[in-house]
Amino acid sequence: MKTVVADNFTFKAQNYLISHAHFDHIKGIKNHIKGFVFGSHITIEILKLFNKNMLDLYTRKIETNISYTLSNGTNPISLLASDANHCPGALMYYFKTSTKSILYTGDFRLNKKVEDFALQLKGIDVAYIDTTYAVEKYSFMSQESAIIEIIDIVRKNLDKKVYIGLYTVGKSNIIKALYEELEVRTYVEPLQAKIFKIIGLEKTITKDFSNAKIFGVDLKILWNIYNNKMEQPNSIYIIPTGWVVNPMVVRNCFYLIPYSEHCDYYELQRFLKVLSPKEFYPLVYFKGL
Ligand SMILES: [Zn+2]
Repeated sequence: MKTVVADNFTFKAQNYLISHAHFDHIKGIKNHIKGFVFGSHITIEILKLFNKNMLDLYTRKIETNISYTLSNGTNPISLLASDANHCPGALMYYFKTSTKSILYTGDFRLNKKVEDFALQLKGIDVAYIDTTYAVEKYSFMSQESAIIEIIDIVRKNLDKKVYIGLYTVGKSNIIKALYEELEVRTYVEPLQAKIFKIIGLEKTITKDFSNAKIFGVDLKILWNIYNNKMEQPNSIYIIPTGWVVNPMVVRNCFYLIPYSEHCDYYELQRFLKVLSPKEFYPLVYFKGL
């Protein structure tokens, strides 16, 4: 049995670490019977929202910058978590055994904090990294610039219905910025409202549909409206996505904005230069310890 695995429920392990609560990182969690599940406070609370059988007894909340020890009795593994600047609650994990040092980034976007953490770990043995946009054509504007762009679009269109794409967990910083800059709360569905409560952004949303001007909607629904030309009059649709490189307006009402919660190619290059791992692989190559 393994001592620890990350984002992987296909192995038998004593400890299951989860980097963040996105579906592709928690596959198989419903079938997991034994072992502790580790994640940030936010990740664990979101998992409990979706998995009613997850008990506090089997979950462990991890704080950043505190060293933990995982042990199978003979070879202790030290564990340190740091913020991954991805969706709310996302962490990256650093493991140290008696023979190896390993970083598992989970999904992440480079920022000052992530870069500082990489600098601390310079020369590490192995890194497993988020390669979602590891192709040269991907070069994203900063999240801050994308948010400024979105605020500007919303400000000019407050006489219309404004729809903004969200993930179940993610892109919520846009809603926070709209609240702070425009003092407007966004309507979200009841399940999304529970997630906003967990991530501490409850005051930025409203449950009052009839008086709302901005609506946070699952990105899949917005792409469906876009693809099937189902747009309504007097409405605009903001699609924050990593799949466009420059802001685009389509059919006068769809605003595609490159707001990414993953590194682009150039940020990944920079991250690897700072970290200087002896070896590195995509995340899925990590098979645990
Ligand atoms: Zn993710």
